Amino acid sequence: MKNIIVQKYGGSSVGNIQKIMNVAKKVISYKNKGFKVVVVVSALGDTTDELLELASGITDSPPERELDMLMATGEQVSVALLAMAIHKFGKEAISFTGAQVGIMTDSSHTKARIIDVNAQRIRRELEKGKIVIVAGFQGANIDQEITTLGRGGSDMTAVALAKVLKAKMCEIYTDVEGVFTTDPRVVKNARKLESLSYEEMLEMASLGAQVMQARSIEAAGKFNIPLHVRSSFSKKVGTYITKEVRAMEDVLVRGVTLNKDEAKVTVCGVPDKPGLAARIFEEIAGGNINVDMIIQNVSRKGFTDVSFTVVCGDLKKTLKLLESFVKKIKAKGVTFDKGIAKVSVVGIGMRSHSGVAAKMFKALAAKKINIGMISTSEIKISCVLRKDKGEEAVRALHKAFGLGR
Ligand code: ADP
Ligand code: ASP
Ligand code: MG
Repeated sequence: MKNIIVQKYGGSSVGNIQKIMNVAKKVISYKNKGFKVVVVVSALGDTTDELLELASGITDSPPERELDMLMATGEQVSVALLAMAIHKFGKEAISFTGAQVGIMTDSSHTKARIIDVNAQRIRRELEKGKIVIVAGFQGANIDQEITTLGRGGSDMTAVALAKVLKAKMCEIYTDVEGVFTTDPRVVKNARKLESLSYEEMLEMASLGAQVMQARSIEAAGKFNIPLHVRSSFSKKVGTYITKEVRAMEDVLVRGVTLNKDEAKVTVCGVPDKPGLAARIFEEIAGGNINVDMIIQNVSRKGFTDVSFTVVCGDLKKTLKLLESFVKKIKAKGVTFDKGIAKVSVVGIGMRSHSGVAAKMFKALAAKKINIGMISTSEIKISCVLRKDKGEEAVRALHKAFGLGR
């Protein structure tokens, strides 16, 4: 089937009825241009957070299956409303849940991975000339249990559908005009990027640029799905995310990111013996928890401290797992620190240039910002610092690397 376009509208684009009507008009305009349009929608505004808030009023460790049942309702509301809005404007549309259109996932509730998409139903409806609207962020496992794809997961739904439908383009509509050198809400003169590579976008997203979900970029890169991140409130061209092009290497640092959603966990007084680090991280991996930065301190009298960061949402689970484990390995205890932020600079140009780290540390030092942890990869450098210094650090780095308008 030719001429298929997938458009994803984030929660900020469907925050109220007026915005839903705006999206309906936009979708119809593409239909009128001759496209077969598949629309993926997120829950209205902050609905997902509000649903989680409701759950936390009952318990601080809800069964993850039930969390998925709860969270998936958000998207079901928005698809139905958008379909009604499109009908009101005289066009035919049909809304579906993830399970209805065959988005099959594994069983890891709240962060499920898509295994397969059987898009026959979507194709049939497109053939009939309908606009197809799919609930983002959700699927079902082999037992028809409802699952969700991790926060920001509607991006993943859009990429997966673009792939199976062999869409011409996958457009991600949001409340900013594209991907910027840093969060435009933090730095006023942040610059919109015309294009960037999957690799850079993946790093930026993983490091806190919430404009797209990291996992969705990984998938888009793997299958070479062209993405266009743009505003649902204007017609302006946004940011294209594509394969690396040579000129991209000329730019040293492409962007600066801030992540305030991680906590530092320290296992104190770990006997300094081979194999213990492996056991600690095996224990954590067993709980399906991703660890980010890791540092092991210098050993004192045969004991050492091991620190690492996890996303705040996984903190409770991590501490619970470590509680009894620490006794088993005869470590002294576990502490945590939620008052941290991670600031990073990203760019594929770093591969072939040196001096980025020095420049970064110097810019932070000039603001008297202390660095707690450091990690690097080929195309990024991250520093952990105090949470209340996060925005100031971003502004300092954005300026030091000359990224502003
Ligand atoms: P949606 O509801 O469309 O999914 P999100 O709130 O998830 O939107 O993501 C959009 C937000 O991401 C923007 O409002 C912006 O504040 C934030 N953001 C963070 N870093 C960046 C960046 N580098 N470029 C653009 N937006 C960014
Ligand atoms: N509504 C979900 C969330 O808030 C999915 C999404 O917005 O992409 O995480
Ligand atoms: Mg989002």
